[in-house]
Amino acid sequence: MGRVAENLRHVRERIALFERKYARERHSVQLIAVSKSQGPERLAEALAAGQRDFGENYLQEALDKQEALRALAPARAGEIRWHFIGPVQSNKTRTIAERFDWVHSVDRLKVARRLGEQRPAARGPLNVLLQLNLSGEASKSGAAPEQAELLAREVAACPGLRLRGLMAIPAAESDFERQRAVFRRLADIGARLRDAGLDDCRELSMGMSADYEAAIAEGATMIRIGTDIFGRRG
Ligand SMILES: *Cc1c(COP(=O)(O)O)cnc(C)c1O
Repeated sequence: MGRVAENLRHVRERIALFERKYARERHSVQLIAVSKSQGPERLAEALAAGQRDFGENYLQEALDKQEALRALAPARAGEIRWHFIGPVQSNKTRTIAERFDWVHSVDRLKVARRLGEQRPAARGPLNVLLQLNLSGEASKSGAAPEQAELLAREVAACPGLRLRGLMAIPAAESDFERQRAVFRRLADIGARLRDAGLDDCRELSMGMSADYEAAIAEGATMIRIGTDIFGRRG
């Protein structure tokens, strides 16, 4: 077994373990393999090991890999669900809307509107998550939590989009209970949005290599894992 396949197996085992440990339903946590800065051969390895959801941060890099994979793994490349997880520049929305299945990083209405308008009708609505900035760091993208409900209503009303939930990238934190506390805030906001009538808002994209146990404990439905699958980025 190659290194990527072995790492994937290990991460999947841990997900199953944490689902049991925190009384989560089996298979309620979806694994997104974050493949930024990895060459297409590494993605092909993950693909051969059964991985179908990939997260990319940089548009041009992602497009190059999508093309390379169609040559490298023609039988499986079409089965990939591509998740855009990086900051969305408004001049890139058309290509993102055409080439991705999910966008985790919607944090303003202008970008949401453009993504919806530019989504090809034949592909069905684009699945989007609202990215919230829970740590209040000025350098981080994400909408302020206080804006979540208003923004969620506006995004949910955009034709061409389906608002599926929330995403956050908390500041690095090594203490497990403090990791949990931040993820709990995102889960609470998600619950509030559903109480307010946004029934579709069920996904919580939270948890990376260093903190996915805490994220699963607090209800993550999508975890975004790079390092633990592909190794340290060079
Ligand atoms: C890079 C990245 C990840 C993966 O981080 P790891 O620590 O390598 O697991 C997850 N989410 C986003 C938005 C990223 O940019």
